[in-house]
Order: sequence, then C-alpha cells, then structure tokens
Amino acid sequence: VPTPEEDDIIHKTILLGDSGVGKTSLLVQFDTGKFQPGTFSATVGIGFTNKVVTVDGSKVKLQIWDTAGQERFRSVTHAYYRDAHALLLLYDVMSKTSFDNTRAWLGEVHEYAQDDVVIMLIGNKCDVNGERVVRREDGERLAREYNVAFMETSAKTGLNVDLAFMAVARELKARK
Ligand code: GDP
Ligand code: MG
Repeated sequence: VPTPEEDDIIHKTILLGDSGVGKTSLLVQFDTGKFQPGTFSATVGIGFTNKVVTVDGSKVKLQIWDTAGQERFRSVTHAYYRDAHALLLLYDVMSKTSFDNTRAWLGEVHEYAQDDVVIMLIGNKCDVNGERVVRREDGERLAREYNVAFMETSAKTGLNVDLAFMAVARELKARK
C-alpha cells in the first residue's frame, strides 16, 4: 500500500456566519467564478464542494462545506464543526449585527471545533462602498483580538475570494 501523498489529505473547510452574509455566494464565486444575485434558497444546501488549490507548487485539497440555512435559527449542529480543519467566518460589512455576532460564532468554534482549526475572519460585500457600516479597521481589530487571519472580500466582484481560500490552504499546508 503506497504511503498517502501530502496532497491526498482532504481538508474539511466550513463556512460560518449569520444568514445573508454571503456564504453561499462566496463559495459559488470561488467554485464557478460567477455571482448569482438574489438570496439562495435557505433550504437547498449545496452541501460541499471539492476544490484543489495550488500552494507553492503543491496541491492542497479543500472540501468546503456550506450551511443549508440552519444558521438562521442558530442551530448549526456540533457535527458541522467536528473534524473541520479550517473555517471561514463571514460577516457583512453592511450589517453591524452580523459583525457583532461573529463573537458568538467564535464562541461556538471554541466550544465545538478542534483547537488547531485554521480560522479566517471575512468581511464580505466590500464592493458596497456607501452602505458600509463596519470599517476595515474594525474587522482587523477583532481578528487581532482573536488571533485569526482577516480579509475583506466581495463575492459579487470576486475581489479577494481566491486569495482568501488560498491563504487558508497555505496555512493548512504550513501547519502540517
Ligand atoms: P448566505 O445566507 O450567507 O449563504 O448568503 P447568500 O450567499 O445567500 O447571500 C445573501 C445576499 O447577499 C444575496 O442577495 C446575495 O446576492 C448578496 N451578496 C452575497 N455576497 C455579496 C457581495 O459580496 N456583495 C454584494 N453586494 N452582495 C452580496
Ligand atoms: Mg447560504
């Protein structure tokens, strides 16, 4: 039996954050390079998407899980966190509530996820200049407080979407 190659490991990566922050849109943008306006059906979860990211010439396999709308009722099951190697915690830069709620999400992460889980805080919808209520500095400060990585993205324009997943993959590779 051949020894599994480093790149055979599949890294379970989960998306978290309030309903409406753009989790499904971010994953669709990363997977297809397209933005589909309008809220995705909360009941039709897309499950997971497998993606391979190349970091310094080697391949990192990500299995990215999206919620099926359970986050609306704060009923993301503990099983969702279990075995997650990485997580992207999103808020919407137009929603102070979604930003404030990231603390509650981080509490859940602390409780249910593995201690060494790779975490990236993401301020999504950064394309909406005028309506922004959460400043970039606010996101940066929160990320520093929790010692997690931070990025602002737009699932609409695609800004930083690949970079965010790439950074997560790079960190996963570095931690091995
Ligand atoms: P989810 O509930 O977290 O999965 O959020 P969705 O992906 O369903 O997105 C919620 C709403 O925000 C939809 O109307 C999306 O079109 C919109 N949306 C998602 N990402 C962005 C973004 O980066 N920019 C803008 N302007 N709208 C976005
Ligand atoms: Mg969704």
